[in-house]
Amino acid sequence: MKSIDSIAAELAAYDPQALRADTVNTFLARLVEPVAQLEEVGIFQALGRVLAADVISPISVPPHDNSAMDGYAFDGAQLAAASPLTLKVVGTALAGKGWSGQVQRGECVKIMTGAVMPQGLDTVVPQELVSHSPGQNPPTAFITLAPGTVRPGDNRRQLGEDLLQGQPALKKGELLTPAALGLMASLGIEKLQVWRKLRVAYFSTGDEILSLGEAPREGAVYDSNRYTVFGLLTRLGLEVIDLGVVRDEPTLLEAAFTHAASVADAIITSGGVSVGEADYTKAMMKKLGDVAFWKIAMRPGRPMAVGRIPKAKLASSPHETSTISYNINSNFEPSKDAILFGLPGNPVAVMVTFLAFVRPALLKMMGSTAAAPPLLKARSSEAIRKKPGRTEYQRGVVSTTPEGTLQVRTTGNQGSGVLSSMVQANGLIVLQHGQGNVAPGDEVDVMMFEGVV
Ligand code: AMP
Ligand code: MG
Repeated sequence: MKSIDSIAAELAAYDPQALRADTVNTFLARLVEPVAQLEEVGIFQALGRVLAADVISPISVPPHDNSAMDGYAFDGAQLAAASPLTLKVVGTALAGKGWSGQVQRGECVKIMTGAVMPQGLDTVVPQELVSHSPGQNPPTAFITLAPGTVRPGDNRRQLGEDLLQGQPALKKGELLTPAALGLMASLGIEKLQVWRKLRVAYFSTGDEILSLGEAPREGAVYDSNRYTVFGLLTRLGLEVIDLGVVRDEPTLLEAAFTHAASVADAIITSGGVSVGEADYTKAMMKKLGDVAFWKIAMRPGRPMAVGRIPKAKLASSPHETSTISYNINSNFEPSKDAILFGLPGNPVAVMVTFLAFVRPALLKMMGSTAAAPPLLKARSSEAIRKKPGRTEYQRGVVSTTPEGTLQVRTTGNQGSGVLSSMVQANGLIVLQHGQGNVAPGDEVDVMMFEGVV
């Protein structure tokens, strides 16, 4: 296991006093490892989990050539460029109940969507594109297609066109989406190998932070970070352990950190990492773990601590604040040290640093190999002041113009404590490190919140 210093030494541009946002991601990608334990879950439990092994198609989907339309199936070799084609309807093929008779030249079979193509037939003409003429002996009937209505092979779904037997249907490391569940079911697969759920413990620090239910006191504010972090982690489908608010006392902080490290893969704290903090949080991180303290060239969210806290050698003293666990159901085998993400205290800075840095790192720890979602481009409907030399994450409201292009405006006050801006926004405007002022109409990058915030 590499120390924090040796990871830092591998990075070309590592300056803990002015770290670029993109360097933070590179650093974290080297720091964290995917969980190693896997488990088997039923398909209903698999949503949002990460596949731990490739899934090879045991069958082809669809298993037979079949019709993509309600219409008439026939041998497309009979189509001629210039003349209409008249065919006698000799039978009916239904989905789940095919037609097994022989079809001669000049004949066709009425066919429904999903019905297996009868032997020797390769083309379907949709029912609304033919004209009908009754035969002399009903129910026998004839259909006529005008020239050029269909080409040979049209409206036939081919065996294996979705998935071929023996081919990988899903890859190890994929996050299981509703579409992936359906795909697995289409292969007849009921159980999947997934990585065990990642377990994350979190707590808020600061003597001015009130827990819900506590009586208000002069200069104190309610803890909001606990709830945004809870929500962000739960959206990732993780097991979460809530350690509440930890007061600024060395014994309480030590107990909270050692307890968190022994029960979780990662620890998220908020508050107490800025320069000139008159508290014990940083000192305790330093004492217990291998931790780097950064000033990141970004706004909001400048200070952040990152590192590892080892599982305590001695039994940890009982943790005094209440421990509430949500969603716990995997066999957790504590092995490695816990990764520490010491986030700043300001509520918007917590969410931004989580989205920009912690979330991608947690996804890697979950075993996901997914690339980061692409940033979208939108035209700014206003001027935005921006200093080159830091990455800014402004809260934005993205909408579609009448012309169908994307536009974005800011939510107004961008203070790092203005949490209502995160509620109003549907994405972050990412103003890149080297970028300067934005003029109205300029294109900017946006990171959408859909399903995340
Ligand atoms: P700090 O990073 O500890 O200097 O905190 C920065 C600001 O964020 C201060 O105004 C804190 O009161 C505020 N803050 C810290 N933790 C929380 C929290 N859990 N909930 C709401 N505000 C917080
Ligand atoms: Mg503080």
